[in-house]
Amino acid sequence: MRYTQRISAKLDKFRPSLTLGLKALVQERAARGLPVYDFGLGETKGHLNPEIRAAGEQAFREEETMYADPGGLPELRASVLRWLGLEHVYGPEDVVITTGAKQALLNTFMAIANPADVFLFDAAPWVSYQPLAVMSYATPIMVLPRSNDRMLVGPDDLERNIRMRPHARMFLLNNPVNPTAQMYDGDTVAALARVCARHGLYFVLDRLYWKLVFDGGAFPEPPLDDEVLPWLVQIDGMSKNFRRAGGLRIGWSVGPRDLTDAMVNLQSHYTSGPSVPSQRAALAALESSYDYTLVADLQRKRDLLIAAARSIPHVEVWDTPASFYSFWDVTRVFGKRTPSGEVLADSDDVAAYLCETAGVVTASGCGFMQDGYLRLAFDIPDQEITAGMTEARTAFAALS
Ligand code: PLP
Repeated sequence: MRYTQRISAKLDKFRPSLTLGLKALVQERAARGLPVYDFGLGETKGHLNPEIRAAGEQAFREEETMYADPGGLPELRASVLRWLGLEHVYGPEDVVITTGAKQALLNTFMAIANPADVFLFDAAPWVSYQPLAVMSYATPIMVLPRSNDRMLVGPDDLERNIRMRPHARMFLLNNPVNPTAQMYDGDTVAALARVCARHGLYFVLDRLYWKLVFDGGAFPEPPLDDEVLPWLVQIDGMSKNFRRAGGLRIGWSVGPRDLTDAMVNLQSHYTSGPSVPSQRAALAALESSYDYTLVADLQRKRDLLIAAARSIPHVEVWDTPASFYSFWDVTRVFGKRTPSGEVLADSDDVAAYLCETAGVVTASGCGFMQDGYLRLAFDIPDQEITAGMTEARTAFAALS
């Protein structure tokens, strides 16, 4: 036998995406006629904006289905800069249009990592950062904050970790944070960016939820001066800030030209750029006036969920200033028994118990390296939120 190991050691250790797995679980329960309250996968629902649909349809009608520029349609690259308010800072050549924000992240990681370089992530990293880092031959490490204030990393925490890790090449900040729904303030973002720049580390800002800020708040933009710009890469896309747009698979990065050139070069070899009709749809979205009813709807759903969740026993519900997630501390149920006598030992157990007994599907904190927590995505119908919270309350109250 020539090969004893059929799958590379790198991929063999991957767990499938937790959140996409939740979608399959919901479909399976629904097919079996079981009740299901789907707080699992983080995706916007509702209906696609008519302009987006029309542009996609038109692209197919006009047979815009041939290969295009691997870095993305030039007009979409320019439009992304206007969408981000960066048209006076960058040129369209500094933008790469990608197959979802995931590819923008992988492009960035592949473009900057040498084998065994360290990538620093915040304290509750989104599920795919670590696999993407491993794919790029980098070693992912979480920056653990000294003060346990909502898992937010401060500049001192970052300094300390950089000093300990001479091979650190990058710090990735996800703001607003998936899964915790917290938002770093402008001073902290600026301080973190400057720590990176001073140490010659890339500061990668994943801002995928940046429009979904509640209570009149605004997304804190990073500093754009000569110190920070050479190290700043911003990642964004269509998947969260627009209704029902995750399947368009369009994202983008904006960053320094040398890095962008390297990413376009890379992308030209492995996707040749994203689907052209999807790019046309994205262009229509960015060129239309933004649909703020999405933000208003999500804020109302957040209020509905949080008001109901606060009376659930044993659960501490965190505030949600942005995004569409509610983050629950469920450590107080560890060690408790379910009515059928099982002891709940970790967040996977709590998520499984809620799903099996109440039909309430949540994402376990274990998928985000934070055992002790559950994440609930709330862009679902109001009645489903209310009914799901009632079921969850009954399930938690039944623990002894
Ligand atoms: N970054 C964060 C924080 C996310 O939550 C997600 C998707 O859930 C992504 C990146 C990937 O986005 P996309 O679906 O556009 O690839």
